[in-house]
Amino acid sequence: MLEMKEEHKSPDFQVKFNECEQRFKAIFSLTSAATKIIDHNLTIIEVNDALVDLLGYEKSEICGTKIMEYACEEFKVEWKDLQEAMWVHGKPNFKLDVCLKKKDGALVWVHITTILFTESGTRYAYTVLDDFTYLKDFEESQKRLNMSLKYSNMAIWELDLDSDKIIHTGDFARILGCSEDSDGLQKSDLVNSFIEGDDQALVLLLDAINETRQLEFSGRVVSQGTDSKWVKLQAKLNVGPNQSRVLMGTAQDISKEKKADRYKDDFISIASHELKTPVTVLSGTLQLMGRMFPKEDTRLSKLIAQANQSMRKINDLIGALLNASKMAEGQLHLKVSTFNIAQAVEECCVNIDREGKHQLIVEGDKKLEIRADFERIQQVIVNFVNNAIKYAPNARDIRVRATDEGEKIRVAVIDSGPGIDPEKSEHLFDRYYRVDAEGSQYSGLGLGLYISSEIIKKHNGEIGVYSKLGEGSEFWFTIPK
Ligand code: ADP
Repeated sequence: MLEMKEEHKSPDFQVKFNECEQRFKAIFSLTSAATKIIDHNLTIIEVNDALVDLLGYEKSEICGTKIMEYACEEFKVEWKDLQEAMWVHGKPNFKLDVCLKKKDGALVWVHITTILFTESGTRYAYTVLDDFTYLKDFEESQKRLNMSLKYSNMAIWELDLDSDKIIHTGDFARILGCSEDSDGLQKSDLVNSFIEGDDQALVLLLDAINETRQLEFSGRVVSQGTDSKWVKLQAKLNVGPNQSRVLMGTAQDISKEKKADRYKDDFISIASHELKTPVTVLSGTLQLMGRMFPKEDTRLSKLIAQANQSMRKINDLIGALLNASKMAEGQLHLKVSTFNIAQAVEECCVNIDREGKHQLIVEGDKKLEIRADFERIQQVIVNFVNNAIKYAPNARDIRVRATDEGEKIRVAVIDSGPGIDPEKSEHLFDRYYRVDAEGSQYSGLGLGLYISSEIIKKHNGEIGVYSKLGEGSEFWFTIPK
């Protein structure tokens, strides 16, 4: 490319010139930056391997063409203007970001830097094309992520547990209703966003994060309007290479979902209250009819018995709905007394319809006494046993075991049924949750375990399940002594 003028052709100068030329060629061809040289017609006269790789054409296909032919339409006018400013009006160089089309049709984004130079009286331009497609792709995916976060009223946040500093995406502060100063947000800003009571609950969860390693929390944030705003935080603890601990997760405004839940709860509460009275009257009437008609009329007494059985089921369902509404409104009041747990188990299990298939085995310490609400504890045990009968129909033995655990009494109901997928078992005690709700062959409301869990929590106890698919389940609770 380079040519030496006549007056510089002394041997010493010649050597230096050759070395210089070799160096330029080496840099031009070996650099990983795509590079080309064009003449005053904008025709490409030399390209390096990096540009060949970038565009996907052979060197021979590129040389002789004009680079603007590879540009996407929307960039051509500006690029032409900049070329004109350089070649015609003497601007020494220009920079531009453009999108080029590769041979295979793919798009590639490049920062272009073009510099004019003169050699042996002829002007050329030297261009470096710096590929930043990865950055564009990243920006695009960031844009898409931000849009979907906005659409779902969600933000992403990270809390550095060593410095208490929070970094987050745009809507985090808005969702929490807190204001951010130049120092950014701190852990205390996050906690103080929630109303009194909810903020303490969050602090307890954050304090226990080293053990639990994940956070799932819903609370009401301090809001200017009349309606309280609900925010759900979900996060996982990440421990970095330097033992740095960062909590990473999402924050979502769930006020709409909470409102919909409230309408559903109100509807269920009103509907079940309204149903209660006529159903009580109907049950009474059926019982009266049972007594009025002679036992010899087998057909009629069978029909009345069937109607009574269905009425009992309706009563149980209404009872569950009323109970669930009561608990959701925090209206569960305990009548505490001291009683023998084995006796309570025996007593409540007598009336459970085992369809002749199951054997109920009461095990453990028969002398154990607990202080709790007798009827509510029986309700929990009946629910566990009924579930074992329902969901483990082929498991003959159902064991109810009461044990002394020092500070607390533990009661467990164990079956050898199909068990539960461990991924699903963490939601079992949520309201309306049913494993495999759509495909399930068993009907139900998904309220029994929720009600049980509220009863046990009200006793300051704990409730849980150990289960393995194919190996049965153990539903248990503990009550402090
Ligand atoms: P419901 O029985 O009305 O669905 P529950 O709250 O009592 O509501 O139970 C929730 C879910 O837990 C049930 O849908 C069932 O899938 C699962 N489950 C409860 N007990 C057992 C058990 N012993 N074995 C297997 N699955 C069970």
